[in-house]
Amino acid sequence: MALDRKPTPNDLNAFWMPFTANRQFKSNPRMLVGAKDMHYTTAEGRQVLDGTAGLWCCNAGHCRPKITEAIARQAAELDYAPAFQMGHPIAFELANRIIDMAPKGIEHVFYTNSGSESVETALKLAIAYHRARGEGARTRLIGRERGYHGVNFGGISVGGIVNNRKMFGTLLGGVDHLPHTHLPGQNAFAKGQPEHGANLADDLERIVALHGAETIAAVIVEPVAGSTGVLIPPVGYLEKLRAITKKHGILLIFDEVITGFGRLGSAFAAQHFDVLPDMMTTAKGLTNGVIPMGAVLTTAAVHDAFMDGPEGMIELFHGYTYSGNPIASAAGIATLEVYREEALFERCAAIAPYWEAAVHSLRDARHVIDVRNMGLIAGIELEGIPGQPTKRAFAAFLKAYEKGILIRTTGDIIAMSPPLIIEKPQVDQLLDTLRDVLSALD
Ligand code: PMP
Repeated sequence: MALDRKPTPNDLNAFWMPFTANRQFKSNPRMLVGAKDMHYTTAEGRQVLDGTAGLWCCNAGHCRPKITEAIARQAAELDYAPAFQMGHPIAFELANRIIDMAPKGIEHVFYTNSGSESVETALKLAIAYHRARGEGARTRLIGRERGYHGVNFGGISVGGIVNNRKMFGTLLGGVDHLPHTHLPGQNAFAKGQPEHGANLADDLERIVALHGAETIAAVIVEPVAGSTGVLIPPVGYLEKLRAITKKHGILLIFDEVITGFGRLGSAFAAQHFDVLPDMMTTAKGLTNGVIPMGAVLTTAAVHDAFMDGPEGMIELFHGYTYSGNPIASAAGIATLEVYREEALFERCAAIAPYWEAAVHSLRDARHVIDVRNMGLIAGIELEGIPGQPTKRAFAAFLKAYEKGILIRTTGDIIAMSPPLIIEKPQVDQLLDTLRDVLSALD
């Protein structure tokens, strides 16, 4: 499709777009053709300020030379090599660097290609871990209402987003859900962690009483839920979940696909909240979103449970053609270097108070019923319109795009998660534009 002319419906027919209102998009396409640092360039030549770091992934901003050059170099040197019974140094080097920045106690990296694959891998590891230790009855998986764990069968089964589940039949058996932690009556407009709701973690005791701890493999939660509309854990909630899982020998998995790599101002949410899970799922910011790559990070205890058998035997029958792909590994190493050289996690922590004040200034904006924030994440909830299939927030997204800012919406909630290189005037631009957009909405 030539970029120098407006696409025809025929140009757009073949690509069945994910999570998209295809028919609407194709009648009014929004095409991005370039990107640099904080901005996208549209096909019409407009600059759009990226308020969402792509899809919560381009934490260092766009088209960073260090990353793009590392990719080009690696592609010319060793384009592909298998990681099954073979190795290449760069994948090992990246694993070591990830572990260097991970919480103490996390010691191993299993590579995947996406957040969804990281989730499937972690769920399978949890079940296989218990089996390896002689507790093969521990197969139940516990997720949470409104959880988002990608789109594969395991992930949508433990996930709790109705729209993502309802089209797809019976899903995985043996799954239970904790309640979500959204308590608008008590916590509306809380800044950072809301005060109320730690006791919602106690629901795990109900599930344990119902099925017996000896049948439960793992609990998976997002430390800060993003895609479901930004839900911040109440004070003490994650600590409680850790205590109850530990008490019952249940593994705790943090899905850090969004929170990993600096978004809360520390490398991982586990460090921010000082709660150590048994596994962490990651993707997105690992390669600045530039090349698909994910990783499951585990404790030594999880890894070592697989290493007891006779040497020379494959310990885990799981993996992907592209696990530890050399080009993705090169992108990962360059990305982590950019994060470190530019102190981007510290920069995120430093601007977070300004961000908090800016997003909460929308409290009095039209239609706004809640504002939630943590690190460089914000959720702005709008009053719904009963009986209307398309949401006011989506209308805001369309208007905001016209006015030069990119935001995301789920249902009635606007989410923002800009690259960690954002400067204060750009925070102001995002929020001022959004306020204008909201004031003009029906
Ligand atoms: N888990 C979480 C918490 C996510 O936010 C996402 C993506 N938004 C995923 C998993 C899935 O990642 P991917 O789209 O790379 O499969």
